[in-house]
Amino acid sequence: MEQLVIDVEGLQQLLDRLVQQVYEVIGPRVRHGVVTLAPLRSVSELPAGLVEVQAPGSYRLEPMETREGVRPLFVHRVGPESWRHFLHPPAELLWCAERKDGHLRIHPRAAEAPRRAFLGVRACDLAAIAIQDRVLAGGAHADAGYLARRNRLFIVAVNCTSAADTCFCHSMGCGPEVKEGFDLLLTELTGGGEHRFLVEAGSDAGANLLRMLPSRLPERGELEERRRRLRQTAEGMKRSLPPGAASVLARNLEHPRWQALGERCLACGNCTSVCPTCFCSRMAEKTGLDGTRAEHWRYQDSCFNAAHSYIHGGVLRHERGSRYRQWLTHKLLHWQAQFGTPGCTGCGRCIAWCPVGIDLTEEVRMLGEVAA
Ligand code: SF4
Ligand code: SF4
Repeated sequence: MEQLVIDVEGLQQLLDRLVQQVYEVIGPRVRHGVVTLAPLRSVSELPAGLVEVQAPGSYRLEPMETREGVRPLFVHRVGPESWRHFLHPPAELLWCAERKDGHLRIHPRAAEAPRRAFLGVRACDLAAIAIQDRVLAGGAHADAGYLARRNRLFIVAVNCTSAADTCFCHSMGCGPEVKEGFDLLLTELTGGGEHRFLVEAGSDAGANLLRMLPSRLPERGELEERRRRLRQTAEGMKRSLPPGAASVLARNLEHPRWQALGERCLACGNCTSVCPTCFCSRMAEKTGLDGTRAEHWRYQDSCFNAAHSYIHGGVLRHERGSRYRQWLTHKLLHWQAQFGTPGCTGCGRCIAWCPVGIDLTEEVRMLGEVAA
C-alpha cells in the first residue's frame, strides 16, 4: 500500500476536509484530567505532548516531549472512553408509542444516523469495533441503529508508537500495528525533530481524501522509523495474556480463586463501562403520567449488577466472584466458542480503571499455574 508523508498543517487540512464533507470529527481530547473522545475541529485540541501512565488501578497524564522539543499528538494511547460509546451509545430510544384522538401510533427510532469520522483509532480499538460488528451488525438480528451509524463512519486510525504498562494487544494478535478496517492510517514520526505523519489509505474514500492533501513520498529513513517504532512498541509491552487462556478457564470453573476474587471485587462495573467490546444492555419503559406517551429505551448494563442475572424468580449470580467469572469466561472462553476469537483485544482499560487493581492477565496466569 502506498504511503505518503504529510505535516501537521496537512493533518489540519485533513480535519478541514472531513468537516467540509459534513463529518462530525470525534477524536482524543483532554477533559477532567483524562483523555476522552469528543468532537474536535483543530489539531490544537489534540492532547499534544501528553502520555497516559497506567498501572493496575492507576491512571495519570504526564507531559512528554522528544529531545528535539516535538510534542507528539498521538503518544497518549487509550483513555477510559472507547468508540463504542458512539457506535452503541449507553442510552438509546428504540421506539415510542403515542395515543392521540383515540388512536395508538408506534414510532420507530429515527433511521438517520450522524455522519461521523473517528480520528485516532488504535489497533486494539479497531479489533473491538470488528468484535462489536459481529455481535451487533452480523447474523439475522442486526441492530438497525448500530448498522446505520457504522455504515456512515469514516475511520482515521493511528499506529501506536509506545505502549502503556497495561497494554497487551500484541499477545492478543490485535496490535500494535493497524492492519485493516480503516479509511486512512497515520503513523506519527518525530525523527530528526521534524513532526510529520506517514499516511496510507485503506479504502476508496480514504484514497480520495488523501489525494486532496499536500503530501510527498517518504524517505527510506521515515519508513525505517515506522518499522522501528512498531517493533519497539510490541517488544515494550510488559503484559501478555498467557496462551491457552480459554482452556485454562474451562478447566477451572470451580476453582477457589473465584471466591478470593469476589472478596476483592467491588462489583462497581468499571471494567464493563470502559471495555470497548462489552455490549450488555437492559430495556426500560418511560411512560407519561397522562397515559398519552410511552418510550422504550435501551440502557447499557453490566454483568456485575445483581439484576443482570435475574430470571423469573430470582438472581442467579449472588456472589461477586461468580459475576467476575461470568465476565471473564464470556470474554475469553464462550466468545471463543461462539465467534472463533476472544472478546478481549488487550487494550488494558479494565486493568487501569479497576479501583482495586484486578488484572485479568494475572488472574488467568494464576489459574493456569495452579492448574498446571
Ligand atoms: S477485557 Fe479489558 S483488556 Fe480486554 S478489551 Fe475489555 S477492557 Fe480491554
Ligand atoms: S473487577 Fe474491578 S472494575 Fe470490575 S467490577 Fe470488580 S472492582 Fe469493579
